[in-house]
Amino acid sequence: MKGVSRPNERQRVGLCAGCAHGHRVVSAKGSEFWLCAKSDTDPRFAKYPRLPVLECGGYEPPHPVTRPHGSGAR
Ligand code: SF4
Repeated sequence: MKGVSRPNERQRVGLCAGCAHGHRVVSAKGSEFWLCAKSDTDPRFAKYPRLPVLECGGYEPPHPVTRPHGSGAR
């Protein structure tokens, strides 16, 4: 789940848990990893950063969810 994290997860994962580029990956055995999508375009970023990430120059807050006009409930 992107952009949503519980307080414990924030402590364990660090910045990636709330970053637009962070993606939680769960293996078939149930192990959890955080994938940094920024690593696709910038070699300075590890694909699977060592957690917790406490400082990162690539951190970006999650993008807000936008909905087209007229799609909301009345
Ligand atoms: S840019 Fe930094 S904070 Fe964001 S997912 Fe990658 S390593 Fe984590």
